[in-house]
Amino acid sequence: MSGIYLHIPFCKKACHYCNFHFMTSLRLKDEMVNALCKELEMRKEYLEDKHLTSIYFGGGTPSILEKNDFEKIFETLSRYYTWDDQAELTIEANPDDLNKAKTMFLRQLGVNRLSIGIQSFFDTDLEWMNRAHRTEESIAAILNAQDVGINNLTIDLIYGSPYTTHEMWQQNVDMALDLGIQHISAYCLTVEEKTALHHMIQKGRFLPLNADHANQQFEYLVQTLTNHGFQHYEISNFAKPGYIAIHNTNYWKGEKYLGIGPSAHSYDGKTRSWNIANNKKYIDAILEGNLPMEIEFLTPSMRYNEYIMTGLRTQWGVQLEKISAISPEYVHFFKKQIQQPMADNFVVIENDHYILTNAGKYFADRIAMDLFVVED
Ligand code: SF4
Repeated sequence: MSGIYLHIPFCKKACHYCNFHFMTSLRLKDEMVNALCKELEMRKEYLEDKHLTSIYFGGGTPSILEKNDFEKIFETLSRYYTWDDQAELTIEANPDDLNKAKTMFLRQLGVNRLSIGIQSFFDTDLEWMNRAHRTEESIAAILNAQDVGINNLTIDLIYGSPYTTHEMWQQNVDMALDLGIQHISAYCLTVEEKTALHHMIQKGRFLPLNADHANQQFEYLVQTLTNHGFQHYEISNFAKPGYIAIHNTNYWKGEKYLGIGPSAHSYDGKTRSWNIANNKKYIDAILEGNLPMEIEFLTPSMRYNEYIMTGLRTQWGVQLEKISAISPEYVHFFKKQIQQPMADNFVVIENDHYILTNAGKYFADRIAMDLFVVED
């Protein structure tokens, strides 16, 4: 299992809730594409397995790139790696970029999965979010993708805003079902520091978030999608059978991956590294032949905590066998700590896997934190 992530750090507008790394000017786009290709070459030995199971363009807004940018990147990828028809090739796209011609080109390039940043099918939501698109474009983008034969579509939706009523949220979920979407990533609105949303709440220009309001929308989501045959395979992710995301599942299962581009993370089983989150500094360093990254050696306690945090959020849960492989001494600790969430009916054991119950899914992060070890 080998996957590559490419971070495309450009967006048309800054969404008010977003704390990802991006810039809203395309001034450095051509240099960035050259730097991404150069980093691919510099790190061609990072993954031992050169046959890729997934390629994922994230951002930022990868769909902002033009035809020749994609061609350059794919040409470089094919110089160092192979992949076949089974590989998952995903591009995150914003609806306003997905006209028919662009979508057709992406299909011809081999892209077989589009992750479309819909967020809401209501213009009033898109306005406070400061999104670059409107609902009409969302629907057109989905229909364009289906028309050209990209039949593995995932959409992002955001719930929990005080301005998204329950009726609106229900219509969002129903619309996704009506449009025949195969995969939905639904994220609870969170307020990250240094975002416009944080500032707006502090200034009283946006209502504070309400956990009960968000939980009710999550409950509707889980019930409706599972009733319609979706697998709730990760807290925020739902898939029709056969459409579980390969790339993200590999992250959650602790597989190795290479991340290319500013702010991108990589993992080789022992270390985690991340590139500088600054476009100009990233480009300058790479073009001078330096990798602008920090590396962290993962101690057993860090690997255990990560496994608990990510594993517990998935339908596969966590296994004693895997904890033991990290360090046998954590098995006893885990067994002791898991007693309380099991007594609360938040966690059950199924076929040797400790998994969250539906009730436990509301407290996933808190349950995981109570299972963390503090030091080696
Ligand atoms: S398009 Fe995506 S990455 Fe860009 S600002 Fe909006 S949420 Fe953030």
